[in-house]
Amino acid sequence: MDSSDIEAVVNEVDETTDTAGRHGHLPGTEDAGRGQMGPTGRPMPVFPEPPPLASHGPARVIAMCNQKGGVGKTTTTINLGATLAEYGRRVLLVDFDPQGALSVGLGIPAHQLDVTVYNLLTERGHDVRDVIVKTKVENLDVIPANIDLSAAEVQLVGEVAREQILARVLRPILDDYDVILIDCQPSLGLLTVNALTAAHGVLIPLECEFFAMRGVALLVETIEKICDRLNPRLEVDGILATMYDSRTLHSKEVVASVVEHFSDRVFHTVISRTVKFPDASLAAEPITTYDTTHKGAAAYRQLARELIARGGAA
Ligand code: ADP
Ligand code: MG
Repeated sequence: MDSSDIEAVVNEVDETTDTAGRHGHLPGTEDAGRGQMGPTGRPMPVFPEPPPLASHGPARVIAMCNQKGGVGKTTTTINLGATLAEYGRRVLLVDFDPQGALSVGLGIPAHQLDVTVYNLLTERGHDVRDVIVKTKVENLDVIPANIDLSAAEVQLVGEVAREQILARVLRPILDDYDVILIDCQPSLGLLTVNALTAAHGVLIPLECEFFAMRGVALLVETIEKICDRLNPRLEVDGILATMYDSRTLHSKEVVASVVEHFSDRVFHTVISRTVKFPDASLAAEPITTYDTTHKGAAAYRQLARELIARGGAA
């Protein structure tokens, strides 16, 4: 075996192992700058490093929404939040899923907390600032949730303006943050309607799998209804392909069909499938601190830059 053979083998391993190529390129950006195609089949633009903000707030509120579970909503909320925070943005994450995966994924013992987002929604007299928890990541705060939240949906049904309760909870702190990301539960029930009513934008993560698009029409219909009836400023900030596997034709086909349907609304950035994301969650950290040079961290940094470049965040 001469050195070129060894290089070939190394390259092959790089292609087929998960953690290899960590210092390499994001999928589809290998030729960035030379006008080559990105993973979404469109030329990959360069998203510049965002300049630091001279002042902070008011926050743009973005709901991470897809009524399908396991598509990367929570992972995207944590890691997009962490990368926006790295760029100096003040970020608040709202855990709006009774499973509390976002809270736990950032090391917050949510099941032991006496006050969570549930109390803010269902009881008067709480100061939202007392419920906010700081994370180990600078500029990244959380309003936690736990299983208590599962009762809120039923309790709120009889309330006046029941769709606007989360918007009211967040109003006093909008000026404290640049971006607020709401991690929705996998349903289109009253909690998600509250998130969409409080939001300026929606980010829809889609898993690169067969049937990824199933249910998206219903989601878009729900967003349009909320826009008509409750929140006219609401817009779809973008559709994010997650769990992308550049080795499979299948992933490419799914992305192609998503772009065919939603064209410019699909982010150029795609998030590859890598075990680093569940590993980071187990370690209760964003990937940016768990393995800061990993390509998964780079992908979420690129997503933050793309979101800012599109005007979806300051
Ligand atoms: P959702 O909030 O939509 O239910 P999650 O973000 O919790 O989805 O992701 C579901 C599972 O998939 C979690 O175990 C998470 O760690 C894992 N996961 C998320 N994104 C990726 C990815 N890009 N590659 C591999 N695993 C991922
Ligand atoms: Mg989730």
